[in-house]
Amino acid sequence: MNARRPPGAASGAGRSVRGRARAERLDAEDAIAAFRDAFVRGDEERIYLDGNSLGRLPKATRERLRRAIDEEWGHDLVASWGKGWFEAPRRVGARLAPLIGAKPEQAAFGDSTTVNLFKLAGAALQAHGRRRIVSDAMNFPSDLYALSSVARTLGGGAALEVVPAAPGGVEPDMGRLLAAIDEDTALVVLSHVAFKSGYLHDAERVGARAREVGAWVLWDLSHSVGVVPIELDAWDAALAVGCSYKYLNGGPGAPAFFYVRADLQPRLRSPVEGWFGRRGPFGFDLEFEPADGIARFLVGTPPILSLLAVETGLEAVLEAGIGRIRAKSEALTALLIERFDARLAGLGFRLGTPREAARRGSHVSLRHPDGYRINRALLAAGVVPDFREPDAIRFGLAPLYTRFVDVFDAVERLAEVVESGAYRAYDDARSAVT
Ligand SMILES: *Cc1c(COP(=O)(O)O)cnc(C)c1O
Repeated sequence: MNARRPPGAASGAGRSVRGRARAERLDAEDAIAAFRDAFVRGDEERIYLDGNSLGRLPKATRERLRRAIDEEWGHDLVASWGKGWFEAPRRVGARLAPLIGAKPEQAAFGDSTTVNLFKLAGAALQAHGRRRIVSDAMNFPSDLYALSSVARTLGGGAALEVVPAAPGGVEPDMGRLLAAIDEDTALVVLSHVAFKSGYLHDAERVGARAREVGAWVLWDLSHSVGVVPIELDAWDAALAVGCSYKYLNGGPGAPAFFYVRADLQPRLRSPVEGWFGRRGPFGFDLEFEPADGIARFLVGTPPILSLLAVETGLEAVLEAGIGRIRAKSEALTALLIERFDARLAGLGFRLGTPREAARRGSHVSLRHPDGYRINRALLAAGVVPDFREPDAIRFGLAPLYTRFVDVFDAVERLAEVVESGAYRAYDDARSAVT
């Protein structure tokens, strides 16, 4: 392409070389660059930008799981329940607590995010007295499914209102959302960071409105935990859930967490009660009596191997510190947006993420009418983002192991597959997993 430029015209390649040097400099100055080596990279030739879907495997987790398998399961067998397994859901919850601005006894792990949402929303609806749940159209669909089933099965006529996003689908319509939170509202359920656009909700503003009308707020932290500072207690949040296999690097299917504000714990009863949530489960009483505290929201036997992987994965995040992680995350997403302006805006792409750093999480969506085919071509070119219908290619920039040059190179490769027309070799038929 550059060969066809008239002599003297600014060379895209020349600009790119200078741009890459800047990205290299940002890597050289990166205070948490060393954490990259704490993760397994069996795919050195690929640029992995999907840590918001499945985080990389921490090297320490390999060793921790080897011990859990060989020594705890392989040798000690059932005795291991008495050597740390039984307490693991609460122990790992307490370890997570500083990352979500909670006291240690307010969080625990178990079940998936969707199931935890069902449990907490169901408990809240039954305790609150009002019948209305408010969410928004930017929320993760599984959350809306779970809330609909809560309303249908437990709600006694409860209704879910899903407030539409602002035109364009990148940001919520805050005026409508705040107005929808009214004196009939029991519960407000929002994704702290929206899975598609990366929009970061103003938790204090939502919390203030909810407090004004006596509603409770439940945050889904799946796309923010481990990458955005979270202050549940300071926001006066009632409840929260979140997943551990994204920026917490817990591994596929690792259990999710839940938070219940201390004063609400004795007031709430889970709609799914099981022996791990019973006071003294090994009494095997035939009547259920809820455990004190957060444990009453546990249900059945937790997936111990995955839970130990979460525990180990958390360490890198805690050690790097959420302040440094967030600073790098903002710089990574800013670089991607800057490169979008320089290389992609003229190629049919639209930015699907807020430009203001304070209003976005750690992934950036680029939208294009041919997004699906371009995403496939990009995978073939060695860059791994993911695709979200109808037209969004998502770039998850996990700060612990993503370099600034990765962002730079990914955008160059993206521009190349569009400029060269390489993406036209792919068809538009969707595969089962995108
Ligand atoms: C990833 C994600 C989930 C995952 O739900 P699971 O039930 O754990 O599969 C839920 N909500 C949001 C907002 C997510 O981003």
